[in-house]
Amino acid sequence: MKTKTYSLSSTMVGLALASLTFDGEVASAAGAFSKTIDRLYRVDCGHSLANDESVWTPGENKGKSIEFSSTCYLIQHGTEYLMWDTGVPEGTIGDPKGWSTLPSLIVYHLDRTISSQLAQIGLKPADINYVLVSHTHGDHIGNVGLFPDATVVMQKAEYDWINSPPPSDPNLNTLVKLAKKLLGDPGRLELVSGDVDFFHDGSVRLLSTPGHTPGSQSLMVHLAQTGYVILSGDVVHLESNFEHDIVPALNVDKAQSIASMDRVRALIKQYDATMFINHDKQQADSLKLLPDYYD
Ligand SMILES: [Zn+2]
Repeated sequence: MKTKTYSLSSTMVGLALASLTFDGEVASAAGAFSKTIDRLYRVDCGHSLANDESVWTPGENKGKSIEFSSTCYLIQHGTEYLMWDTGVPEGTIGDPKGWSTLPSLIVYHLDRTISSQLAQIGLKPADINYVLVSHTHGDHIGNVGLFPDATVVMQKAEYDWINSPPPSDPNLNTLVKLAKKLLGDPGRLELVSGDVDFFHDGSVRLLSTPGHTPGSQSLMVHLAQTGYVILSGDVVHLESNFEHDIVPALNVDKAQSIASMDRVRALIKQYDATMFINHDKQQADSLKLLPDYYD
């Protein structure tokens, strides 16, 4: 078994210190000291068809099918590379039956692998230094195993959740068991609590946005030309849900979900940020795709 690095590395100590100052900074000057990342690439991490939209829009759209995107992001920060989420397992490619987290509800398909997309810009999985996990649902951690040399970063609350006795709700039970299997035993795992200014320069910020799962997080990056971009994780699935505070039935905590959406709304206003919504296919299809990038 590989050695885990929980709180012993110097990076982790730095992360913990940075997290202490981030809330204060959010409340005060809007990114006055913020540096920028070099590039943000959208990586195609699959798409899915669900047979009942009302699971994501309770009370409406019963029995209506809906197509979602699955999106990952590659971030270049100087000489370091970060992946934000890893999508549906690469083994799904070419499988006409697709892959599922909850087979009675949703099926995912992959048109291209992360590896092949990284290769388009001369990178390989071993070049990735950090894998940042928004949360542990299978469509977000399906390829963590592709990056055995990277440090996997997630909220401690999320790690504790999937390592506690599985929930009694059958859907959540299935999702948690699958999460444990897909996450496996990362060689380098760093667990964080709350917000983290990842490089201590304001360019990459983990935002605690619980509710969809207990340790869900979003990510805010700062780009020289584009400005601030918030990568949603699953704090919201559809633009219309964000507009109307609609919480999917599968979320573990409705009040937390609404508070997290409020929080993101406040940050969008404060930083004049744009939010890229992972599963909103209509929005995702309108965004640049690797090898194109935001800078
Ligand atoms: Zn998701």
